[in-house]
Amino acid sequence: MHQIKLMTTITIARGDGIGPEIMEATLSILHAAGARIITEEVQIGEKIYQAGNLSGITQDAWQTIRRNKVFLKAPVTTPQGGGYKSLNVSARKFLGLYANVRPNNSYHPFVDTKHPNMDVVIIRENEEDLYAGIEHQQTDEVVQCLKLISRPGCEKIIRYAFEFARTFGRKKVSCFTKDNIMKQTDGLFHQVFREIAEEYKDIISEHWIIDIGAAKLADTPEEFDVVVTPNLYGDVLSDIAAQIAGSVGLAGSANIGEQCAMFEAIHGSAPLLKGQDAANPSGLIQAAVLMLNHIGQSDIASRIQNAWLTTIEDGIHTFDIFKEGLSRQCAGTKAFAQSVISNLGRSPQHLSTVNYKGKQKINLPEYIRKNKKHKKLVGMDLFVHWSGKDAEQLATKVKDIEKNNLRLTMITNRGIKVWPDGFSETFCTDHWRCRFLSTDQVELNKNEIIEIMQKSSEKKIDFIKTENLYEFDGVPGFSAGQGQ
Ligand code: NAD
Repeated sequence: MHQIKLMTTITIARGDGIGPEIMEATLSILHAAGARIITEEVQIGEKIYQAGNLSGITQDAWQTIRRNKVFLKAPVTTPQGGGYKSLNVSARKFLGLYANVRPNNSYHPFVDTKHPNMDVVIIRENEEDLYAGIEHQQTDEVVQCLKLISRPGCEKIIRYAFEFARTFGRKKVSCFTKDNIMKQTDGLFHQVFREIAEEYKDIISEHWIIDIGAAKLADTPEEFDVVVTPNLYGDVLSDIAAQIAGSVGLAGSANIGEQCAMFEAIHGSAPLLKGQDAANPSGLIQAAVLMLNHIGQSDIASRIQNAWLTTIEDGIHTFDIFKEGLSRQCAGTKAFAQSVISNLGRSPQHLSTVNYKGKQKINLPEYIRKNKKHKKLVGMDLFVHWSGKDAEQLATKVKDIEKNNLRLTMITNRGIKVWPDGFSETFCTDHWRCRFLSTDQVELNKNEIIEIMQKSSEKKIDFIKTENLYEFDGVPGFSAGQGQ
């Protein structure tokens, strides 16, 4: 008896720039390979932005994406300025797509690269960090962007990375942060990494400070296996990794959430290449392969990947990876897709044939909120807009609003301590942070904070924001001033 194989309905969007061309190429391969999919198309990107929709997507499109839960998306152009929001970032966050998985492989000797043995998967946190997009101008001279890192965010992405390593037989997970500088935010990411690594003793774990880690990754990528990192670092690193593997045009990515998933090339809409039948569709083809594995069609995923590897091995290359002597034909987008289609059923002779049979999906346990810690209010940072130069003068002004039990202990400018005992060499902007700390062990109450603000207002101290300073179970939940 024939087994009836179920069709999966997926949402697709053709996007902008080279998007429609690479989507057409990818769909032609999916259909020729017998992918059991029904596609529903939504309009997103430039046209929608230009119609005055700042998010680049309509409510109807959201409904379709949420109903189908699987979204294959071509790149879109985000208009600069004008309050337009990145559709990619919104989609990742609205749909809870916390894990951005970006495999980077080299295809030596068929695609030119300095790194013949590269096989690195970058797992990037996808919902928080500086991508919260919470920015403010606070003074004439200073703007800020809030970096938010949460324990659930860290736990989910780091656990995902270890589960990924275990599921796919990988040996090592490397964590990249800058916790020597950002002790609270990156410090939390690193701390959670340490905790979760303890649960996966079968996998090697290591931590790199991002600057030297990135340099090492660019120099000797073969020493890395799975890399897990906060959002912004992951964004930068994964483009570098794709480019040094051969081309940004080669890599695809999966954005995975508990309910939905979105698959896309890692590159953008490359507007200058639009309409030339030149773009490399491989990034989106790789994304489609990740998608097929995700929806349980690993047979088709393997079939497409082996045909794609055969095409690469045959030297049928788009211009971005074309190299005289290595490549046989400089193919356009359509011809490249046609070559993959004609190779369906073949396996590469030199590159490793893939067989994705088996477990491809990672299910994490639900995040369990930890017990509440004892939170004690011990002070406040009062941020002040002041155009003077001499911190001593500001200190005299601000000391006027001190309370008996809440004393000015420090003033910083852009984080560096300028009072007491500042250096005359330190350059100061018009943005000052005045730290008040409780002088006794008694917990402050919020009214005391309000009193300081009230007095500031009366004394014409132009405070622009305040930050409460807490201890959690007796441990300070705030960093010291630089130079303190
Ligand atoms: P880009 O990735 O679009 O292009 C950078 C360069 O990479 C191009 O000039 C081209 O030389 C090369 N390139 C990219 N894709 C290629 C391909 N498939 N084949 C051959 N060469 C390719 O980056 P950009 O120019 O910085 O961004 C253009 C637009 O794309 C911007 O509006 C940006 O916001 C948007 N963008 C969208 C996404 C997304 O939708 N996921 C991601 C990144 C950027």
